[in-house]
Amino acid sequence: MEKIKSFTVDHTKLNPGIYISRVDGDITTYDLRMRKPNCGDLISNAAMHSLEHMFATLVRNSEMGGEVIYFGPMGCQTGFYLLMRSTEHGRVIELIKSVLKDITAYDGEMPGCSEVECGNYRNLDLSLAKEEAERYLDTVKDWTDKDLEYEE
Ligand code: ZN
Repeated sequence: MEKIKSFTVDHTKLNPGIYISRVDGDITTYDLRMRKPNCGDLISNAAMHSLEHMFATLVRNSEMGGEVIYFGPMGCQTGFYLLMRSTEHGRVIELIKSVLKDITAYDGEMPGCSEVECGNYRNLDLSLAKEEAERYLDTVKDWTDKDLEYEE
């Protein structure tokens, strides 16, 4: 079988940040890499799940919500994928920062936290999402559209 493109990136050289991993027509896949791979420092499942609910809800309710295709976790527990119908990378980076900031300031109820809306709602915890958002925001606070390339 052919190797898919994301496996051709050398994961030993990846550092936390925001990167473009794929472009398919007008859809850009951004890797929101939150942990250095294979260092034993993983995002817990509960933190990933909580951040997934918060980020997906806030980004789809943002001014660029209509351009969001998908937001979801990397199975390796080191980050998330954000698929956008947008080539305005600078705007997307600012959007990511503003959603993270909004998560740290959020004090409402966890969205989708019920048996009807989620497959494992007992595993959601707003404080874990906030902690993770704060940590990642600190990593990407000075990120610009010049930093989006994975280093070869
Ligand atoms: Zn859920």
